[in-house]
Amino acid sequence: MALMITDDCINCDVCEPECPNEAISMGPEIYEIDPNKCTECVGHFDEPQCQQVCPVACIPHDPARVESRETLMGRYRLLTAAKRAA
Ligand code: SF4
Ligand code: SF4
Repeated sequence: MALMITDDCINCDVCEPECPNEAISMGPEIYEIDPNKCTECVGHFDEPQCQQVCPVACIPHDPARVESRETLMGRYRLLTAAKRAA
C-alpha cells in the first residue's frame, strides 16, 4: 500500500528529504506522494520514514492502494535498479 498525504499537511518540508525513493514532492498546494515510487519504505527501513517525522500525522496508508509486501519489494528493486542505471 502506498501512503498518501492528506490536506492536514502544513507544508513543513520535513518529510521530503527523508524519503529514500524521492516519492515526496511539493504539489500545487500541499506535499504529495507519487504512489509509483512509494514502497512504504520496504527495502530501506522497517517503518515508513515520512510517517515517523510528520508532526501532524497526516500521512495514512492509501486505502485505494492496497499492495502486498512482495509488490512493494518488487517496486523497490525496480527503483534501485533504475537509480543504478542512471
Ligand atoms: S513511506 Fe517511505 S517510500 Fe513511501 S513516501 Fe514515505 S518515506 Fe517515501
Ligand atoms: S511532514 Fe507532514 S506536514 Fe510536513 S510536509 Fe510532510 S506531510 Fe506535510
